[in-house]
Amino acid sequence: MTMKTGKEYIDSLRKLDLNVYMFGEKVKNPVDHPIIKPSLNAVALTYDLALDPLYEDLMTTKSHLTGDKINRFNHIFQSKEDLVTKVKRQRMLGQKTGSCFQRCVGQDAFNAVYSTAYEVDKKHGTNYLDNFVKFLDYVQEEDLIVDGAMTDTKGDRSLSPSQQIDPDLYMHVVEQTKDGVYVTGCKAHQTGVVNSHEILCMPTMAMKPEDKDYAICFSVPTDTKGITIIYGRQSSDTRKMEENDIDVGNSQFGGHEAIVVFDRVFVPNDRIFLNGETEFSGMLVERFGGHHRASYACKVGVGDVLIGASALSADYTGTAKASHIKDKLIEMTQLNETIYSSALACAYEGSPTPSGAYLIDLMLANVCKQNVTRFPYEMGRLAQDIAGGIMVSQPSAKDLNSKEIGHYVDKYLRGVNSVCTENRMRILRLIENLTLGTGAVGYLTESMHGAGSPQAQRIMISRLGNFDHKKQLAKNIAKIDDEKNEQCTAESTESKDKKKEKNKTADDKKKKMN
Ligand code: SF4
Ligand code: FE
Repeated sequence: MTMKTGKEYIDSLRKLDLNVYMFGEKVKNPVDHPIIKPSLNAVALTYDLALDPLYEDLMTTKSHLTGDKINRFNHIFQSKEDLVTKVKRQRMLGQKTGSCFQRCVGQDAFNAVYSTAYEVDKKHGTNYLDNFVKFLDYVQEEDLIVDGAMTDTKGDRSLSPSQQIDPDLYMHVVEQTKDGVYVTGCKAHQTGVVNSHEILCMPTMAMKPEDKDYAICFSVPTDTKGITIIYGRQSSDTRKMEENDIDVGNSQFGGHEAIVVFDRVFVPNDRIFLNGETEFSGMLVERFGGHHRASYACKVGVGDVLIGASALSADYTGTAKASHIKDKLIEMTQLNETIYSSALACAYEGSPTPSGAYLIDLMLANVCKQNVTRFPYEMGRLAQDIAGGIMVSQPSAKDLNSKEIGHYVDKYLRGVNSVCTENRMRILRLIENLTLGTGAVGYLTESMHGAGSPQAQRIMISRLGNFDHKKQLAKNIAKIDDEKNEQCTAESTESKDKKKEKNKTADDKKKKMN
């Protein structure tokens, strides 16, 4: 059993032969690419902290498969405590990286696939759970990163997968052989895929029987023949290639996204975890979405960084004591802790699935994610309010370091005398990074759309809201007797009928007289 160091993890990635493109060109060495590097550092930290005794409880646990010590990111939740620890781990890692650390999608996918495969096997006599357990054992043993891939590009949203003019707009099986299947399609928004050893693909939504070929779940190494990764562009990304790190805002850590194209990729039989059992696609999606919505406790940790940066920017300009600044920091904190509360709540209310793996409370996880779609935006607005317009109008680090004009920048961008101009510029750039720059991809837009856009949560909230039960509660309190409704409806219908009859007789009489 190996628990890798961050360095060993990075070295293991060097052995992969990834087919990655960025700015229209093949990336020869993704591991050392300056645009990708910060995202790699964030993942590497999840390895190093697992070996740090201070974080042992949050980062490691015992495998329920082997009893060996493993990184918690590769664990199947065995208790409510496991779910709660995940939420706390997410916040801690958000605090340390100020960014997306990518590894959680794998864990959420493991748990969704494990618990669903168990139920598929029970109904269909398949052996998906055995396949998956074998795969998970390998992942735990080798301490691997697995990209959980769900979202297809979906083409025309008004058409089902099998109705699309181009069938590849949803991942599907294009050929079945005795040894496995060939798949074609594309997964979008693939967080951290370039930093991953494996890609675990799941169907993107509930499927109907006619979409059988699209109900496919499997895992393959990220460098499998036929896979092309096209790296996602982020605002201000090329700042990472500049010599001076000030303008990047967060030069150490970051996240990344990509689209991943599968062109007739072969999947061997023992790596298939669902193939055509369409009625289980919805369960898989719901469980992955539920777990991942709770994972967004990561944003609380990043929110802590943003609150800290906002408070520092006030300190650096001498406005920290102003009551409206204090109030804005309080407001940011209240919003942030509200997200944390709902993430913790859905974990504490978790329960076991038939497989034994624990699932968060789906209603509360959806409420958590709905909070995440809103509060970071409001916190970003407040952070920008506190930071002031200079956050976006300040000169570059090159100007600060210029022999000719650097002294002007240094002199006029100074706030309080006790803080040097460079440090003020750095904290403003961090707020810019999180609310407008590369960091905003994870902190804002991913908060909106990751693990399902806001409407996806509202649909779940409506489904799980149990409005009939709530109506009954109100009836009980208001002493509403439904039998009375029946009585008065019958009486009112009877009197209406009588009235109608009376009017009809009068009309008939009139007609006769005319
Ligand atoms: Fe994990 Fe998603 Fe948060 Fe990134 S944004 S740290 S992948 S939960
Ligand atoms: Fe995500």
